[in-house]
Amino acid sequence: MLLFFALGLLVHFVFFASIFDIYFTSPLVHGMTPHFTPLPPPARRLVLFVADGLRADALYELDENGNSRAPFIRNIIMHEGSWGISHTRVPTESRPGHVALIAGFYEDVSAVAKGWKENPVEFDSLFNESKYTWSWGSPDILPMFAKGAGGDHVYTHSYDAKKEDFGAHDATKLDSWVFDNVKDFFHAARNNRSLFSKINEEKIVFFLHLLGLDTNGHAHRPSSRDYKDNIKKVDDGVKEIVSMFKHFYGNDGKTTFIFTSDHGMTDWGSHGAGHPSETLTPLITWGAGIKYPEKVSVQQFDDAFLKEWRLENWKRRDVNQGILPVDYLNNTDLFKAESMFTNAVQILEQFKVKMTQKKEVTLSFLFTPF
Ligand SMILES: [Zn+2]
Repeated sequence: MLLFFALGLLVHFVFFASIFDIYFTSPLVHGMTPHFTPLPPPARRLVLFVADGLRADALYELDENGNSRAPFIRNIIMHEGSWGISHTRVPTESRPGHVALIAGFYEDVSAVAKGWKENPVEFDSLFNESKYTWSWGSPDILPMFAKGAGGDHVYTHSYDAKKEDFGAHDATKLDSWVFDNVKDFFHAARNNRSLFSKINEEKIVFFLHLLGLDTNGHAHRPSSRDYKDNIKKVDDGVKEIVSMFKHFYGNDGKTTFIFTSDHGMTDWGSHGAGHPSETLTPLITWGAGIKYPEKVSVQQFDDAFLKEWRLENWKRRDVNQGILPVDYLNNTDLFKAESMFTNAVQILEQFKVKMTQKKEVTLSFLFTPF
C-alpha cells in the first residue's frame, strides 16, 4: 500500500516537473550561421510605424458619416500600397507582439518567469541585422531591441518613464512626442555631417512606436471619442512623417513604409487573450518593393468586415506575424524565390543547431537523427 502511494507520488512529481521542462524552456537557439538573399534589395531604408493597441476594425471602418478616421492611410490602400489583416497570437501583449514583428518568432513561453517587459534570452532581430536603427517611443518597448543588439548601432529615443504622466490627461501627446522628435532629428541631421552620412546609408530602419491608442483604449475603451480621435491624430502624424521622408530623400523611391499594430483590444479595453478584437491588427505597407493596390471582384480573405469597411474591391492580403509575406512583394519571381529560399535555410540552421545540442547530451546509441 505504501509502495503504491510512493509510486503514485513519484509519477505526479515527474509529470509536474515535465511541465517546466516542456513549457518553461526557451525554444530559441544560438550560434546559427546568418544567411542573406544575394540579390539587391529594392529599398535602402524602412520606416516602421507601430500604433500600439490599434484594432484592425477601428482603423478600417468608416465613421457614422461614412468618412474614414484615417484618410491618409485609406488613400494609401486605394492608390499606393497593399493592405490586409495581420493575425497575432496569444498572449496579445506588447512585448511578444513587437518581438513577432521585429524578430520574427512567437512568444517564448519561458518569458513569463521574467515578467513581460524584459526578454529572458538574447535573440537576433531585424534591428540587429540593420546597418543602423533609430527608434522613438515608449521606454518599455525600445530597450529590448537595443539590449540584444551587438555593437552600437541601435539607437533609442524614449520619453522618461516617470514623465509618461505628461500623457496622463491626453495620451495622444505620447504620439505627438514621437512625431515631433523624428522631425527634430531630421532637422538636426542637416547640420550634423556624421549623422547625415549615417542616415544616407543602406539597410537602415526607423521605428516609430506610438503608445497613445493603447493608453486611450485602456483608459476610455476603444469605442470612446478619445480612442477614435487618436486614430485621426496618428493618421495626421504618419502623413507628415511620410512627406518629410520624401522631401528629405528627394523622392528617390528607396523608402518602404509599414504601418501596423502589435495587438488589438477588447470592447472593454483589455488585451492579452485570443478574441478577434485582440488578435486582428491592421497592416498597410507601401513604397519601395511593395505591390500596388489590386482591384478584385473575389477576395481570398473574405469575411463580414470587408463590405462593412467598403474595401471589398481592394485585394486584401492577410499575414501571420513572423512569416515572410511574399504576396506583398513587388519584385521578380527570382527575387521572391531567393527570399523564400533564404527564409527556409535560416530555419534549417536552427534545426542543425538544435540537433547538435541534442546529440551532445544524448548517449550515442540512443540518438537517431530525424
Ligand atoms: Zn501593446
